[in-house]
Amino acid sequence: MSADNQPTTRADWQALAASLVEQGLETRAYVDDAFVDAADGATLTTINPATGETLAEVASCDAADAEAAVAAARRAFDAGEWSRLAPAGRKAVLLRLAELMEAHRHELALLDTLDMGKPVSSSLGDMAGAIGCLRHHAESIDKLYGEVAPTGNDALGLVLREPLGVVASIVPWNFPLMMTAWKIAPALAAGNSVILKPSEKSPLSALRLASLAREAGLPRGVFQVLPGFGHTVGKALALSMDVDCLAFTGSTGVGKQLMQYAGQSNLKKVFLECGGKSPNLVFADCKDLDRVAEHAAGAIFHNQGEVCIAGSRLLVENSIREAFVDKVLAAAERMQPGDPLDPDSFMGAMVDQAQHERVLDYIRRGVEEGATLRAGGEAAAIEGKGLFIPPTVFDGVTEAMAIGREEIFGPVLSVFGFDSEDEAVRLANDSDYGLAAGLWSQDIDRIMRVTRKLRSGQVFVNNWADMDQTVPFGGVKQSGNGRDKSHHSLEEYSDLKSVWMTLAT
Ligand code: NAD
Repeated sequence: MSADNQPTTRADWQALAASLVEQGLETRAYVDDAFVDAADGATLTTINPATGETLAEVASCDAADAEAAVAAARRAFDAGEWSRLAPAGRKAVLLRLAELMEAHRHELALLDTLDMGKPVSSSLGDMAGAIGCLRHHAESIDKLYGEVAPTGNDALGLVLREPLGVVASIVPWNFPLMMTAWKIAPALAAGNSVILKPSEKSPLSALRLASLAREAGLPRGVFQVLPGFGHTVGKALALSMDVDCLAFTGSTGVGKQLMQYAGQSNLKKVFLECGGKSPNLVFADCKDLDRVAEHAAGAIFHNQGEVCIAGSRLLVENSIREAFVDKVLAAAERMQPGDPLDPDSFMGAMVDQAQHERVLDYIRRGVEEGATLRAGGEAAAIEGKGLFIPPTVFDGVTEAMAIGREEIFGPVLSVFGFDSEDEAVRLANDSDYGLAAGLWSQDIDRIMRVTRKLRSGQVFVNNWADMDQTVPFGGVKQSGNGRDKSHHSLEEYSDLKSVWMTLAT
């Protein structure tokens, strides 16, 4: 333990994990200010993928639970205790929640690590992101003004920004609490009632967050958490006639379903952050290829490759490709998986058996389709246990191959070669996705030319995924619509009301 009694070593984290499990984890849904079992008593099992041990049986909600939560959320919204509270009042409560999260950050980080296998140091980084996001939106909400339209003197045109009503946030498992914060912080700050549906693979931190939200003073029904499967409680929320907005982060396939559900029900607003197959373009004029290679490897192997913006397609100018790939292989060698409770581990376990199998299946297809396997490719275990896959690198990948086109969501890098700038841009844009792109070059003219041509929601120039709360995050094409983070995310959770007042002159 550190001087202030915080976990720092693997043994510290193991001890904290044992004591958390011994104390008992929160496993019930949080509905209308009460922790409750699912209405039909159903549960789902969460497993620690690094050990195979069962962590908990968690409430598995369904349509009846969704109905109860939506009704409570609507009651809360209409009552106005939150939705009509002055922004400074909402700010105070959200800042209190941020403080509580800060005080419990080790516990929250550990829950994510145990639930989905990521290294605990990475989970701690997520907590900083989640808390920063909450503080940002809390701090900004009482500093935003409406508009007075430039009408003639005989009228007053006011443009008011108002909350939408009931927001259902459906989130994935790869950054459980951070994705949650990106969704709920602006939605709550704007005055909405929020129902959170965490992934069935990582519900534990969301349930702990519910008790912190209650302690912070969020009024009854304003924030609720429904653990359960997508095809049950997720679908019920998406089809509800009384949910005003679906805020989703997850796969493109499910995003498409949600748009259909909105069309089949009440045309609710659907805000989607979906998948990616992000290109990372390396031009021969780069100055420090060792540094670029380190970042190119980190871009795909961070978080076991379970990252929407993973730099999974590495596009390298052919004149440097051979030497550059060698450098990437050397960097990958230093990024091997380890025990997620060891703060020095770079990669952890894959989230579950299905994802482990899926990634290994893509690796088999890559070999069959003729790509050259340069590193990794086999399942691994740590101390004989767990669902691990080491950094895997394929060279000589083409657009025709599944590993060159499809989102694998695992530690698998596909390297392509190119001979010209035009070819690099064509390859980069030849994708259904458009979430992120990287560009490494010293030539400012080329940087601006290529940046403008890339069809991508975000472009990282001479870095990978350097970002903070002030810059919007999101994609184009089948990577989704709308933006998380920054002031712009408030636009997803509010609507404009135009007020026209005729004045006596
Ligand atoms: P997923 O689409 O399988 O599940 C996401 C959430 O949707 C889960 O809570 C799930 O239970 C729910 N869901 C599934 N089917 C549903 C249905 N029919 N109706 C309602 N809800 C349903 O995705 P995942 O496997 O949890 O996460 C991985 C995906 O998320 C990847 O594609 C990744 O790229 C994407 N992702 C995107 C971003 C981003 O910001 N663009 C960030 C993180 C992850």
